[in-house]
Amino acid sequence: MAHLEEVEGIVLYQRKHRERDFLVKIFTKRFGKIMFFVRGAKRPQGEIFQAIQPFTTATFIADIRESGLSFLRGAKEIEQKRDLQLDIFSNAYATYVSALADAAVEDRLPYPSLYHLLVTGLHLIDEGYNPEVISNILEVKFLVVFGVGPNFSACSICGKTKGIFDYSDKYHGILCSEHFLEDPRRLHVDPKAVHLVRLYSVMDLEKIGEISIKKSTQEEIKRLIDHIYDQLVGLSLKSKKFIDNLYKWEDTLRKDD
Ligand SMILES: [Zn+2]
Repeated sequence: MAHLEEVEGIVLYQRKHRERDFLVKIFTKRFGKIMFFVRGAKRPQGEIFQAIQPFTTATFIADIRESGLSFLRGAKEIEQKRDLQLDIFSNAYATYVSALADAAVEDRLPYPSLYHLLVTGLHLIDEGYNPEVISNILEVKFLVVFGVGPNFSACSICGKTKGIFDYSDKYHGILCSEHFLEDPRRLHVDPKAVHLVRLYSVMDLEKIGEISIKKSTQEEIKRLIDHIYDQLVGLSLKSKKFIDNLYKWEDTLRKDD
């Protein structure tokens, strides 16, 4: 007899398999990420098909096998994220942070804090928070999960925690303005961007308030985080390239105004 578990989880993505079946990657709270096989039904509007839409959270009734594919038998307490599915920007960022969480840990490795971050972040984007800001916060927090966490807490040379800071590859973290000369090849990034990234690294995502960031600062935050990911993580995610292209299209559209 199959051993069924009730597991809380969030759908990272789904892929069609043959005509009517699906492969669905779910990040479960208790068992980590698991790939499920869902057999196509005669009623594609059924509960389980609502539950396997990307970014949906639910309590899944799952037949989890030791190896190979596992199976979904049902779902309850289904919460779909309509905005994430309909809005192109929200969807792009939600897809990216889900792929990032997927890349950060091995399958079947429980990681409740990462699970909680992803669920909270996607919920906030769905609620209408700026998807780029929420994604940046998750990117910064995920660095620790990737095992590369640069030092954002204090100057890497003197330990100073207040003042103006820049980012240095050489010192794997921030430098205060008194020590800028120690690394002529520091990133020369807007100190406001460094300040916000430092804030992101320690802030409690659940207690986020209204955040309004100037476009130029936002671009510097992106430059800083992209640089750190290129240097220390080295992923090549399609969903990230899509976002970078959205950026370019935005600029092109603005020039045409
Ligand atoms: Zn210093």
